[in-house]
Amino acid sequence: MKSDRFLPRDYEQETLVNLCKSLLTQIGEDPNRTGLTDTPERFAKSLRFLTSGYQYSTGDIVGRAVFPETSSGMVFVQDIEFYSLCEHHILPFFGRAHVAYLPDKKVIGLSKIPRIVELYARRLQVQERLTAQVAHAVQEALNPRGVLVILEASHLCMMMRGIQKQQSKTMTQFHTGLFETDTNIRDEVRGLLGLNSRLHP
Ligand code: ZN
Repeated sequence: MKSDRFLPRDYEQETLVNLCKSLLTQIGEDPNRTGLTDTPERFAKSLRFLTSGYQYSTGDIVGRAVFPETSSGMVFVQDIEFYSLCEHHILPFFGRAHVAYLPDKKVIGLSKIPRIVELYARRLQVQERLTAQVAHAVQEALNPRGVLVILEASHLCMMMRGIQKQQSKTMTQFHTGLFETDTNIRDEVRGLLGLNSRLHP
């Protein structure tokens, strides 16, 4: 499996803390006032956590968690909560991911699917790419007969700035294999999610 690890080689916690401190100054704050004393450090730590997906790859997650399986029935993990950061505004977008696949002699440990979602969500993202990357990762790990990934998310960059639409949700989907060619099977998953009437083919 190809590596998609991007850990910067010259990463230093101290550099990031200093940058966070400068950022506070640049927005008109005094980073030395009492309430902000430890903020640059917390900010840096939080940023590292929210982008921790750069530090590992799908290979690290999948590892030895792929098992032989004769049953070929659909596997469907729904309502996986995720939190990501939009790459345009570095503001959160968050929601639920639904991942279905049709095994071909192999399955993956169920807990690995949410971990794959997290791996890609904890990077700077656009929702469309996040959806496709999760699908490709499952496809690559298992070579199943098809993968379908649906994401529904709210974007703070649309809610607290810009167009300021608090109620809108963005749906994205990506499918491979049988989910691409067989609309019945795709509709089966969307039906389980109550989405058929809301999504285009
Ligand atoms: Zn944005």
